[in-house]
This record gives sequence, structure tokens and C-alpha cells, in this order.
Amino acid sequence: MESPVVVTVKDGTALNVAVAFRILASRIHPRHPILLKDTLHPEEETDLLSTMLSSSIHIGSLLCDGVGDAILLRQERAPGANIRLGYNILQAAGNRIFKTDYVACPSCGRTLFDLQSTTAKIKASTQHLKGVKIAVMGCIVNGPGEMADADFGYVGGAPGKINLYIGKKPVKFNIPEAEAVDRLVDLIKENGKWVDVPPTPAAEPALA
Ligand code: SF4
Repeated sequence: MESPVVVTVKDGTALNVAVAFRILASRIHPRHPILLKDTLHPEEETDLLSTMLSSSIHIGSLLCDGVGDAILLRQERAPGANIRLGYNILQAAGNRIFKTDYVACPSCGRTLFDLQSTTAKIKASTQHLKGVKIAVMGCIVNGPGEMADADFGYVGGAPGKINLYIGKKPVKFNIPEAEAVDRLVDLIKENGKWVDVPPTPAAEPALA
């Protein structure tokens, strides 16, 4: 049997990126890994927003459909921004988890706390964690059912009171809102998912 060989679409191909890779995937044996590219015309200049949108749409949609084994981003020229974009695409498509993932309900008339400021507060305390998914839901009526596969849930239980969940199971009830983010952090710690914030590297001494 032919050994697996990494395959990709040739630069300059006059097809939409997603279409080209779908055709490729339909024509090769699945043992051959596919290298996805963000563009088939790397020489073309684009701005940052256009690059982010087109790379996310092309590569993200292919990954969500199960097409692709590796990704190559070339449209964004700045190396740091390129790597961040690659990580974000892989995380959004559910292929890799590099940082904390959040699920928040859109809020409605039933929402029992300020969803935006609370989500920002939860993010500020937990965004350095890796591989943890946290759901922030405005009420217990529909919130628990919409938490998907979150590891922890922060859910409005009553006005000014929060219930905390592990998965879809409620474990702490009626916590005063003012202390609920700290109790969520405690719950993450109790369940072995906490790591401390990595120390910021010391600044290089200025050269004389
Ligand atoms: S979870 Fe509750 S508050 Fe959030 S959108 Fe659904 S019903 Fe509204």
C-alpha cells in the first residue's frame, strides 16, 4: 500500500480555497494527511481584518467539516499575529484547546445578573487556564440545558444569587453574586483544573 504523503492544493489554483480543499479531500485516500492553506495566492496583500476573516472562514469551515490535518497561514505577515490566529482557528473549530473556552447565553428578560460585566470578571480571573470550558448563563430556566459540554457553569439562580455547576450538575446554590466569581475559582481549584497565573518575564535591563 502507498505510504501516507502530506498533500495540499497547488498555489495559483483558480478556485475558492474551501472548494479546492473539499475537492482534494474527495479525490484522495483518507490515509494521506491534508495541509490546509489560508490562501492559494500568498503574494496578494490584504489587511489584518480581511486576513482574519478569510482565514477563519476557509480553514475553520474545512476543519469543522473534518477536512484537514495541518494548517499553514501565510496571509498575515507578522509571525506573532499569525501564530495567534492559527491557535484561535484551531480552538474555535474544536481541534485543539490552548486557552479557556467560554460559553455565554445571549441574555434576555430572564437574565438575573449583568452578563457582560460578569463574563468579563470571570474571564479576568480564569483566562490563563488551559483546556477548561466555562459556561455563563443568565438563568436556571434554560441555562443548564444550553451549557453544552462546559466543565463548569455559573448560572443565575435567583435575583442576586448564583448557582455553580460541574458539568450539568448543580453543586453550589444561592451564592451571593458579589462573591460568586471567587467561589467559581475555588470550585475550579477543588476539581484540580486550576493553575496559577504564569509569572511575567522580568524586563530586560536597558543597555547603557
Ligand atoms: S439562559 Fe436564561 S437568561 Fe440566558 S438567554 Fe436563555 S432564558 Fe435568557
